Amino acid sequence: MFIGHFGVGLGAKSVAPKVSLGSLFFAAQLLDLLWSTFLLLGVERVRIVPGATVVTPLIFEHYPFSHSLIAALGLACLVGGIHFLLKRKAVAAFVLALLVISHWLLDLLVHQPDLPLFPGSGTVLGLNAWSSLPLTLTIEGSLFALGVWLYSRTTTHNDAVGRWGFVVLVAFLIGIYAGNLFGAPPPGSEAIAWVGQMQWLLVLWGYWIDKHRHVSARA
Ligand SMILES: [Zn+2]
Repeated sequence: MFIGHFGVGLGAKSVAPKVSLGSLFFAAQLLDLLWSTFLLLGVERVRIVPGATVVTPLIFEHYPFSHSLIAALGLACLVGGIHFLLKRKAVAAFVLALLVISHWLLDLLVHQPDLPLFPGSGTVLGLNAWSSLPLTLTIEGSLFALGVWLYSRTTTHNDAVGRWGFVVLVAFLIGIYAGNLFGAPPPGSEAIAWVGQMQWLLVLWGYWIDKHRHVSARA
């Protein structure tokens, strides 16, 4: 899943309006940010098999440190705990922790059975919504649309950066997603890892536009 995670990050602004969109993106995508780092380090592995699923050619061979259930729970506690220690805001810390876990749950919905319970676990889970393109588009499209609607309802732009930076971000995410779905398969796992690293820029983009928007009076 790609765009759905960003949808959840955008939507979370409505329940934690004081938390920057950059932090919300970071929490929602933390598992994939780590995954692309672990791919580069050779700690985790992915294989490209065109036609592996209707939606993605990726076979997630080994990713227990970024995508096991226990890793997601541990990272959620870490992110929520650090936020609470720094800011003393319990609700915001809880929302960030939930966002980390939401990534695993949404991946569970779409992935083939490949998500381990813990490193070394023989049990792998996945409900395989990726076996159907219409189902995948419905899930991810509605999550993203809901997130965009909630974020734009919760915040108002201060200036042109806040307005157009947000519009361009939404268009950019849709463009990347369309490229993933309908473009050529990636040339190799290293290319996937580097593209994954580029998602740090989306986190920074989130911080940037959030600085140029404020929480609406009605939120
Ligand atoms: Zn993931």
